[in-house]
Amino acid sequence: MTTSAPVIPQTFDGGKEIQFRCREGIACWNACCSNIDISLTPCDILRLKRHFGMGSGELLKQYTVPYEMEQGGIAGVKLRPVANGTACRFMKPEGCGVYADRPTACRYYPVALLSMRKQGEATDRDSYALVKEEHCLGHSEPRRITVDDYRKEQGLAEYDELARGWRQLILKRKSSGPSIGKPSRRSLELFFMACYDLDRFAAFVASEGFSDLYDVPADEMQKILCDDTELMLFGFRFLKQVLYGENTIPLKQETAEKRRLRLREKMQQAEREAAEKRAAEQDEMYRDEGEQGL
Ligand code: SF4
Ligand code: SF4
Repeated sequence: MTTSAPVIPQTFDGGKEIQFRCREGIACWNACCSNIDISLTPCDILRLKRHFGMGSGELLKQYTVPYEMEQGGIAGVKLRPVANGTACRFMKPEGCGVYADRPTACRYYPVALLSMRKQGEATDRDSYALVKEEHCLGHSEPRRITVDDYRKEQGLAEYDELARGWRQLILKRKSSGPSIGKPSRRSLELFFMACYDLDRFAAFVASEGFSDLYDVPADEMQKILCDDTELMLFGFRFLKQVLYGENTIPLKQETAEKRRLRLREKMQQAEREAAEKRAAEQDEMYRDEGEQGL
């Protein structure tokens, strides 16, 4: 099962009927899980973390590998296959070992979700495509189903809804072109932590430094810190501010003012240094010309 598998380059909406069924006993059983390339959403990581009762750091280390969604840009994570192989670590002879919490890409297969946003557009649009891989015999099974019903059958509405904020962050980055500069290293680290390493993000949000800067009401803060799903959604809001400068979380007035002053001071310092450099270069130039004229 590969998320980068050949996609028939024809997109459609949820009303489209496809012919497909996957069932135990089919001759290709588990073929799709024997060669994986599966990107995970933050919601997938949350579900797997709960499934194994594990910390996010440990889960990331044991079961995932990071990758760059764009060169030098924001990161994604994929399922880590078995050592020296391509099969999924969760694959069992009887099927998926994490079935109730299987990732979004596994639920969608053989449908691919294509969220798109045109350059300059504020909203994204979902469309779908069909992935047909030779080994998958499910396409020959005599069952027709609309993509909308297939999504329902696979429990995808909740997954898609919870991952929407994350998808929007990525789409905005991809559709913004050069108008939004490259994210700083710090903001890329924050993106990884808030999207994938929720335990570390919880500690960051609970830190004194965070509450010195951000004005989050106490009851909201409690909700965020007691519920991983709320924390994840808060993370997407936080990242809109970090990556795109949107005012999604109010800053404490006093701290914001101090920051503004620090920034202004920094800019003035940079201007002073540039002016001094220019003046020194001019001095040197006049000195050289003077020496040549003697
Ligand atoms: S998580 Fe489950 S469905 Fe997905 S590739 Fe692994 S075994 Fe297959
Ligand atoms: S029908 Fe397709 S999805 Fe189902 S087990 Fe076979 S290869 Fe996997």
